[in-house]
Amino acid sequence: MSAHNENTCIFCKIISGAIPAKKIYEDADFVAFHDIKPMAKVHFLIVPKLHVESLKDCDETHQAMLGKALLLAPQLATEQGLIGFKTLINTGPEGGQEVMHLHLHVFGGGALSVAN
Ligand code: AMP
Repeated sequence: MSAHNENTCIFCKIISGAIPAKKIYEDADFVAFHDIKPMAKVHFLIVPKLHVESLKDCDETHQAMLGKALLLAPQLATEQGLIGFKTLINTGPEGGQEVMHLHLHVFGGGALSVAN
């Protein structure tokens, strides 16, 4: 389990409230907010409060957290008015990950500028 990493991690700063975000959901374990550079009409991120860098850094101890992230996707997508949606987890720089704090993208609401 990695430590909270507010000095260097932008998502930890959003979680702590040090920098603002358009939050759509928050509980003890997760925050979700609109992506600052949306690639679809609706594009939000589901972010665990625990600072884990990527899916590659997860093990059995993260199983419940990962399951909860997946279950939040349809719940929040529905709340955002989506009937269908896409999900994406980029893993590592070679996998297109720019922010090294695990997160799940949710896209919907029309034509997507991400790979179909
Ligand atoms: P990834 O490439 O999977 O690491 O995605 C990181 C995402 O975080 C990108 O889509 C960025 O637009 C988004 N992002 C970066 N900084 C912020 C921020 N301050 N608020 C909201 N979204 C952000």
